[in-house]
Amino acid sequence: MITLYIVVPCYNEEEVLPETGRRLTKKMQELCTKELISEESRIVFVDDGSKDRTWELIESMHGQNTYVNGIKLSRNKGHQNALMAGMMTVKGKADAIITLDADLQDDINAIDGFLQKFKEGCDVVYGVRSSRQTDTFFKRHTALFFYRLMKSLGVDIVYNHADYRLMSKRAVEALGKFKEVNLFLRGVVPLIGYRSGTVEYERHERFAGESKYPLQKMLAFAWEGITSFSVKPIRLIAAVGGIIFAISIIMLIYFLIVFAAGHTVPGWTSLIISIWAIGGLQILGTGIIGEYIGKIYLEAKGRPQYLVEDYLE
Ligand code: UDP
Ligand code: MG
Repeated sequence: MITLYIVVPCYNEEEVLPETGRRLTKKMQELCTKELISEESRIVFVDDGSKDRTWELIESMHGQNTYVNGIKLSRNKGHQNALMAGMMTVKGKADAIITLDADLQDDINAIDGFLQKFKEGCDVVYGVRSSRQTDTFFKRHTALFFYRLMKSLGVDIVYNHADYRLMSKRAVEALGKFKEVNLFLRGVVPLIGYRSGTVEYERHERFAGESKYPLQKMLAFAWEGITSFSVKPIRLIAAVGGIIFAISIIMLIYFLIVFAAGHTVPGWTSLIISIWAIGGLQILGTGIIGEYIGKIYLEAKGRPQYLVEDYLE
């Protein structure tokens, strides 16, 4: 039978956590009775350095409920690193790992479908939202724009898939070989390349509490995704630079001819404008290159992605 571990990252989730614990436990019991998963299966809450009572709640759930395990990270490392920490900590014990947000937005009944696909031989099963009706208009459109942008930059990501997915033991082990610090799982997981499938589900409203992804974090996340996976922006800048250089050569030849013909060139506005335009482009180019150098710097340091402070088994 399959030993299933469900990894749930939690950052300041005291408002939803008790309900999440209840619903997931009920789901686990149901799956155990149906003999779809073994009794050794666990729910692992990863406390991503919360500042509220999240860890105390996890500890008390762990005390009362055999299904619940907890991992406490030493500080807030972000959703992606919390997922990685959870998966890497439990990968030795699980046949399959499902990652799921703490806020109950993703329908936990999709788990049956995940297990079905896993049995059929998929190493990775992506949860795909069938509709985004419960998201705000703004979030829906920015998300769509982001997916399109990533695709056009040549990054292979699954449309309408967040981090709700099942991965087999060997897929998680493969994932562990990706040592990058700038972690963007949605981009990395398809790179593993093992057989994959998708399961559709309805996305609900957040059960309680506030989104931990305000606009600023969302933009940072999108930027992270693009610059960690694509070097196209650099190439674009290089191409723009090349074109501008070519134009300036043509202009130089033209003005030389005009000069030789004895006409003076009136006005210097155009000159000033072009100096500003090119100066601006250079700064932009330098900025983008700097972004990549910054990434190389972070990767070169090879800092740990996370540190586990406590592990309740
Ligand atoms: N989360 C985390 N660390 C963070 C921010 C968020 O572990 O620094 C968790 C959070 O507790 C939740 C999941 O990541 O389980 C997704 O966050 P949220 O629901 O706030 O994002 P949204 O669904 O609004 O994009
Ligand atoms: Mg959410």
